[in-house]
Amino acid sequence: MRNYFLIFSFIFACFSAQAQFELPKLAYATDAFSDIIDQETMEIHYGKHHQGYTKNLNEAIKEEKAVNLEIEQILNKISRFSTKMRNNAGGYYNHQLFWDILTPHQTKPSQSLITAIKNEFGSLNEMIEEMNTKTASQFGSGWGWLIVTKSGSLKIVTTANQDNPLMDVVPTEDQGIPIIGIDVWEHAYYLKYQNKRGAYLENIWNIINWDSVNERYKIALQTKG
Ligand code: MN
Repeated sequence: MRNYFLIFSFIFACFSAQAQFELPKLAYATDAFSDIIDQETMEIHYGKHHQGYTKNLNEAIKEEKAVNLEIEQILNKISRFSTKMRNNAGGYYNHQLFWDILTPHQTKPSQSLITAIKNEFGSLNEMIEEMNTKTASQFGSGWGWLIVTKSGSLKIVTTANQDNPLMDVVPTEDQGIPIIGIDVWEHAYYLKYQNKRGAYLENIWNIINWDSVNERYKIALQTKG
């Protein structure tokens, strides 16, 4: 009987060790946003960049024996891992969030999210304006975020490279649960917009998936702190 248990444990361990992250499927075609993000950019961004982060994340997980952790658990303790893990766990998570908060369909913020936005920023337009201004001035590659802080309020922050507000290496005041993330690496917009990062930021609000953001806001309020 004990032998069967050992054999079962061994097989289970083998399968667990194989557990890897996969490139998530897109919920729309790569030409779904062609007025705002061109198809070639979408295909390179998703099929090459995100694919690359996914592959390198899986490598880092093997090298650093970080198996059986959720991506959030890795990000929360990212200071304990290598730069390779930091860049690729960030890249994997950030792009997964980015694709998920875009849609070709018309959606709108929920009543509870709108109320929180009005309390914090005055109006949705003022929130967008602040986020665009801060994100546009992120020096070099990085991301702009709308986060839910530990106290449950909304805040706009930016991070460099593939860092994000879940990571323990970003300044404490910039940490929180992201509900919107906008990629301002040049690979996200340069083919269509060249140096006009501001125009890309203005346009992207037309394809925000508020259904997804609303859901993320609800979950963030339950899990914050
Ligand atoms: Mn990107």
